[in-house]
Amino acid sequence: MVSTHNLPLFTWAYCEGVAAPQCPIHSNESVCFSRNDGNLVVICKGVGNFSHLLGICSQEQFDAEKQEATAFFERNRVKIAQPADVA
Ligand SMILES: [Zn+2]
Repeated sequence: MVSTHNLPLFTWAYCEGVAAPQCPIHSNESVCFSRNDGNLVVICKGVGNFSHLLGICSQEQFDAEKQEATAFFERNRVKIAQPADVA
């Protein structure tokens, strides 16, 4: 179960120490990146061929939000990483 964090540009997921944008609808589908005029284009591969745009932003905006998401996940990592002790 992956935890996500919603920020203005993207929904972020935390996987193996790295925050990455995730489609809020297709949480299991991969997200790919492309560049357009210096901007970062983030695309969800969707189901089948139904890929769709998740967002376009500058690299600076992306980096800033990634940092914010990473900080959020780092703060909450202990809570997320430790399953409830039912023993
Ligand atoms: Zn999607």
